[in-house]
Amino acid sequence: MNKITNHMPTAQLQALDAAHHMHPFSTQNDFATRGARVITSARGVFLRDSEGQEILDAMAGLWCVNVGYGREELVEAAARQMRELPYYNTFFMTTHIPAIALAAKLAELAPGDLNHVFFAGSGSEANDTNIRMVRTYWAEKGQPERNVIIARWNGYHGSSMGSGSLGGMVGIHSQGGLPIPDILHIGQPHWWAEGGEMSPEEFGLMRARELEEKILEVGPERVGAFIAEPVQGAGGVIIPPDSYWPEIQRIVDKYGILLIADEVICGFGRTGNWFGSQTLDIRPHIMTIAKGLSSGYQPIGGSIVCDEVAGVLAACEFNHGYTYSGHPVAAAVALENLRILEEERIVETVHDETAPYLKQKFESLADHPMVGEARIVGMMGSIALTPDKAARAKFKADAGTVGYITRERCFANNLIMRHVYDRMIVSPPLVISKSEIDLLIQRAWQSLDEAMAQVK
Ligand code: PLP
Repeated sequence: MNKITNHMPTAQLQALDAAHHMHPFSTQNDFATRGARVITSARGVFLRDSEGQEILDAMAGLWCVNVGYGREELVEAAARQMRELPYYNTFFMTTHIPAIALAAKLAELAPGDLNHVFFAGSGSEANDTNIRMVRTYWAEKGQPERNVIIARWNGYHGSSMGSGSLGGMVGIHSQGGLPIPDILHIGQPHWWAEGGEMSPEEFGLMRARELEEKILEVGPERVGAFIAEPVQGAGGVIIPPDSYWPEIQRIVDKYGILLIADEVICGFGRTGNWFGSQTLDIRPHIMTIAKGLSSGYQPIGGSIVCDEVAGVLAACEFNHGYTYSGHPVAAAVALENLRILEEERIVETVHDETAPYLKQKFESLADHPMVGEARIVGMMGSIALTPDKAARAKFKADAGTVGYITRERCFANNLIMRHVYDRMIVSPPLVISKSEIDLLIQRAWQSLDEAMAQVK
């Protein structure tokens, strides 16, 4: 076989891809009929494909390339670390400098007494860690029956057996025997779709109180933790009503259950602060991290754990870990990524300048005849597509169709936006400039026009 390079014709690359590469969250046969777009390089907020097209990546990859593409410092950090120590584990009374330095840095950045880090290779692995950590914590405290973890429908926490169970995605639960036992779900604070005649604030309170109802139904002595994303990401960027999180916090405090904030998307500046927990004013015992931790340049995730939980675990042997927990190259890159975020004041710039600018522009999409609401926090936002704004109506076509058409129009117009059913999402690199934001909005508007013409 010829060497596969980006000099190969696109059609040939696509044929090989369809024949041999099984894609995540995809219908594999689509790749044979249509061919995937082959992404060959990237700089800043732009991707380049094998046909030489420049695409504005308004999703920062999968919500992760926070510092943008093409950062030489991260390349150098990886190369340096590979020369020095490409791999070693931290299992059997050994450690290494990148893991020490990254854990200490995260303890400094994380709020409250979240001072301890257990590393994983991804967000899914980190949430699997959380399940085992919470249950081990309660068992060590002499309450092994507290193994129920409550999560939310339409939340997303990964796609392994454990993290996919924590998530409330019906499509994931329908394959492979999920959820695992003792993971229970309550409703999501998605006012636009589910709020009916209630005000957002009433609805937020109602949904938060489902947590208390579930705790009482199961028995408070059996509930170990509640897990949620500060702002649901993959569920459609669902920004909860203001009443929601204070009530959740009251309930977890009242029953003494652990709160796990899944910061895999919200962390590292995405919501305009270092962590979504700060933006939403919540006090988790554990935060799940990944994605923006390394800006996606290396696969790394982890759990940042409070003094109390880490203290209890410290006295027992916690029989858990991954070959790549605290991988030195990934840790070195993550550390350099945090240095860039800090020294270039990227989170502050998002908070003070670019996010307010994006908010103003993004919310103007609500003037489009097919857009019901446009909501954004920091650099994550979504619009609801609707045939009738006042009624908050859904399109009649199969779920996802109008969103899918709009996504395809965006793609054709060299803009990457993701769709979740009939919600369109943006989550651009945090370094996006004001003129790039203008381009994003212009391409989004044009794509909405084209999609509307196709739907009507
Ligand atoms: N948690 C949240 C909130 C996520 O959005 C994701 C991925 O999108 C995950 C966990 C899983 O992370 P990974 O894909 O790295 O396993």
